[in-house]
Amino acid sequence: MIPNFLIAYYGNGLTYGMPMDHTSLIGIGLIVLAGIVGFIVQVGMRKHMQEYSAEPAGLTGEQIAREMLDAHGLHNVQITHIPGQLTDHYNPATRTVNLSENVYSRASVAAAAVAAHECGHAVQHAQAYPWLGMRSSMVPVVNIGTHLGQWILLIGLIIAAAGSSTWVAWTGLALFSLSTLFTFVTLPVELDASRRALVWLRTSRHISPAMHEHASSALRWAAMTYVSAALSSVAVLVYYILRLLALSSRDRR
Ligand SMILES: [Zn+2]
Repeated sequence: MIPNFLIAYYGNGLTYGMPMDHTSLIGIGLIVLAGIVGFIVQVGMRKHMQEYSAEPAGLTGEQIAREMLDAHGLHNVQITHIPGQLTDHYNPATRTVNLSENVYSRASVAAAAVAAHECGHAVQHAQAYPWLGMRSSMVPVVNIGTHLGQWILLIGLIIAAAGSSTWVAWTGLALFSLSTLFTFVTLPVELDASRRALVWLRTSRHISPAMHEHASSALRWAAMTYVSAALSSVAVLVYYILRLLALSSRDRR
């Protein structure tokens, strides 16, 4: 993957000498703003996760996950532990809930929240939750589209900067925009998994109401990282749209 800033840098470098219009500056401002918001959310999320990781709960993440899966009749879904921090995920292909070491073996409020959230995805899968199905079927298209799109966009910017038409760049951007769409389809999937997790944690009574409030806060912070990722993806997209509109209007002059 070519980092976005590199494409932006090339895009600007290639069109250097062309007066930088104020719309492109707005685009850059949006990218910077989204970057700052993303950073604040990341710091806040890690700080709160650390805090709730130190708050003891009755069961380990693995035990919580097993109970929640069994309560939904998902006895065939396996729970494994994987290396890293915040690497927890549900894999629909292997029907496994993969928990990081801190979540798997720790009995903390954060571990309970994260383990239950991942089981929420397993329940979505079992119940054929439409947004999850849509998200999964988008993965191969988005991977190819984004990869191909950024190269076509880069080539298109070179062509446009040389004074030719911008349609190649627009085609690249259209493919690239699939990744933005993907970040938005991810939002309902993540929010719904957290909702299912919190409902189960409350009804199963494995954690106290005070702990439940903290588990809810932990999952809210995690959700905000997905929202900020979607916003920063929009910012990059808007930047390119403004940049290409400026190049297109130059073509017409
Ligand atoms: Zn999730």
